[in-house]
Amino acid sequence: DPNGAAEWFRRRAARAPERPAVSFKGRTYSYGEFQQRIERMAAVFAAGGVKAGDRIAWLGLNHPDLLAALFGAARLGAILVPLNFRLAARELQQIIEDAGAHTLVVDATQRSLIEPVKAALPCRRYLLDDATPHAGWEALPLALATAKDTPPPVNGTPDDVVLLIYTSGTTGRPKGVMLTNGNLWTNNLSWTFSSDFTSRDTTINAAPLFHVGGLCVVLLPTLMAGGHLVLHESFDALTFMQDVERYRVTTTFLVPAMMLFISQHERFAQADLSTLRLIVAGGAPVPEPLLRLYGQRNIPVSQCYGMTEATTGVTFLETDRALTKLGSCGRAGMLNEVRLIDFDGHPVTQPNVPGELCMRGGMVTPGYWNLPEVTAQSKSADGWFRSGDVAYFDDEGFYYICDRVKDMIISGGENVYPAEVESAIYEHASIAEAAVIGAADEKWGERVVAVVALKPGSSLEIEGLRTFLDGRLARYKLPREMHVVEQLPRNPNGKVAKIDLRKRFANHP
Ligand code: ATP
Ligand code: MG
Repeated sequence: DPNGAAEWFRRRAARAPERPAVSFKGRTYSYGEFQQRIERMAAVFAAGGVKAGDRIAWLGLNHPDLLAALFGAARLGAILVPLNFRLAARELQQIIEDAGAHTLVVDATQRSLIEPVKAALPCRRYLLDDATPHAGWEALPLALATAKDTPPPVNGTPDDVVLLIYTSGTTGRPKGVMLTNGNLWTNNLSWTFSSDFTSRDTTINAAPLFHVGGLCVVLLPTLMAGGHLVLHESFDALTFMQDVERYRVTTTFLVPAMMLFISQHERFAQADLSTLRLIVAGGAPVPEPLLRLYGQRNIPVSQCYGMTEATTGVTFLETDRALTKLGSCGRAGMLNEVRLIDFDGHPVTQPNVPGELCMRGGMVTPGYWNLPEVTAQSKSADGWFRSGDVAYFDDEGFYYICDRVKDMIISGGENVYPAEVESAIYEHASIAEAAVIGAADEKWGERVVAVVALKPGSSLEIEGLRTFLDGRLARYKLPREMHVVEQLPRNPNGKVAKIDLRKRFANHP
């Protein structure tokens, strides 16, 4: 089945084996070489007894071998579980147990993280990507070098699960999302339709591969189109700008935090970013001042909205609309539907009325791993998935994300969306970073609290901030309290860890 992840890559490689597929730290693999790497990886897994349906967990920084493991696992009908190395050892243990991983692969940089819980893990095989041997670990480089007898590919079906990705854990414990061959295939086509990926594209991905933002937004569609992927081990603003120049990069995916850090880097003003035809931005609300800043530099930014449960995007904005539809995340993709349900449970039919965004289509997960009740609460029998995000659409049908249902602040009976307040705060010249949370308040129910990081040498008081915002925002949205921090706590996806901020500044349990 060509919709199977292993098979579409194999066909792509067979068509033009000499073309560049993946560049990493200055080394470039052609499509043909990368297909061989995939087959070796599959042989290594199969030699350890991995069968169709088994889970292979991978704990490491971004690396081409993690991609080879995805396609190699798919070739065996197995499931790759990329793990978030920012988690604590106990959290990783819980996820590896939850996934019931048959094989665990760890790179040299993460061994000390997992070692304290390793004895308690249930895996049958432990591989370490390190040239130096370590007791209790089999050496992956050696296994790859000596691998033989690549098993014939299984005939993947659209319903086979190929990826198990845990959500970012922004609102609670990460949930395992099952993604199938069909989900990946539909997602790739959807991006191809919305963003015109072709074999002429060169794409940088610096977002972590253990989230769909890194793996599935621009990365897989680029490979499916036969384009050239420049993979970064992790995000660094300067390296990013240097590689855009060096490889004449045309597309990339950035979360708002990356856009912010690039724009705040001293190199930004001189960097030649003119080859970029598309920055896909998403994963969290993009503050409007940031969109305007990139707009002034003629760098096309397309905001998209999506979530792990939808493989990635469900709404897309054409780049030429980025500035006329400022702040919008666009319209439903060609291959999926989107609708809003108001707070009484009725479909929203009027523009500018907020409701919970729901989605349906071939990229939507069949469900959460080991969480049938949560799946049943989130997905209706006819396939509609509830996002937990509040949005409205304008009179042309373009969607705007307000914020998460869980982050919404209800103050004096009025709904306040933190993302809107944050965007306004970002307009202030002293602000480097801003987050808005709700704190319990006897009089108002909740009160609006701002947590900010200031630019070097700046100062700001709550009264100054309120005066600045007055007239920009309705009075009930103005922060009543402000805390200054060095830097906002962020998860690896660059999302502000509001759970931590609430614990610190809002006395939430
Ligand atoms: P968890 O589900 O574990 O709490 P998470 O929701 O952050 O974590 P992801 O699936 O990585 O995990 O992120 C999806 C969420 O990111 C969406 O539900 C939405 O809240 C937010 N998001 C994504 N794109 C946008 C966007 N363009 N604008 C605003 N918010 C966005
Ligand atoms: Mg979520």
